[in-house]
Amino acid sequence: MKLTVLVDNNTLIDQCYVGEPGVCYYIENNNDKILFDTGYSNVFIENARKMNIDLSKINKLIISHGHDDHAGGLKYLFTEKKDVELIAHPDCFNYKEKDNMYIGSSMTKEELQNVCNLNLIKEPTEISKNLIFLGEVPTIFDFEERKVIGNYHKDNQIIEDKVMEDSAIVYKSDKGLFIITGCSHSGICSIIEYAKNVCNDNRIYGVIGGFHLLENNEKLDKTIAYLKENNIKDLYPCHCVSLEAKIKIAASTPIKEVGVSQVIEI
Ligand SMILES: [Zn+2]
Ligand SMILES: [Zn+2]
Repeated sequence: MKLTVLVDNNTLIDQCYVGEPGVCYYIENNNDKILFDTGYSNVFIENARKMNIDLSKINKLIISHGHDDHAGGLKYLFTEKKDVELIAHPDCFNYKEKDNMYIGSSMTKEELQNVCNLNLIKEPTEISKNLIFLGEVPTIFDFEERKVIGNYHKDNQIIEDKVMEDSAIVYKSDKGLFIITGCSHSGICSIIEYAKNVCNDNRIYGVIGGFHLLENNEKLDKTIAYLKENNIKDLYPCHCVSLEAKIKIAASTPIKEVGVSQVIEI
């Protein structure tokens, strides 16, 4: 499995690519060419072009959840019909708003159905050899109780949005599990613990993505204790992890930097 960071909040020195506060990873696994999230805008397409990554070859696309920093780029990818399987939770493409601002996907479910093969699933599913989409993640730890982020509209109702669709993917390597997450609204510890249950493997080799740790509070302390206990070799907290949280995590678990163009191979 080879992962290339196409979009991150951070860019790396001497690598002339563009960053934005979103997530998009390009993954090559077996014969599959997979995109995980699409960032906010068309930045992922521009960066891929400069890296000689041909996005017309992708056959699978996973959207971690419906927020615009992950699903905003969809309309730039699907300017025409493509033979791509899009895998996401059934609630991913609901109309989402917060403080009267639209914060959802740039394409509706109906629009997507016309341009790709939409596969909306809640259950854990193998999407490529040894690569599992987790589907709906249960809250395993009390300190990760889901927070409401705005509202979503469904069947003429306006409902508080606990981002139930938030998911992640897991690569089952010989060395243990490598977890790739978007924003971790489900809670990074619950995601890791659920991945262990689903894959029947307690070894966590690595985790990359947004852990949604922005404040210095009890949740951060409990998360740090959990990460330490799991003895994770390659930890890449990025996107929605504050500098303060990274510094606190690094005191007990070594962390690695993330930036556009970075390549991780397992
Ligand atoms: Zn989000
Ligand atoms: Zn995000």
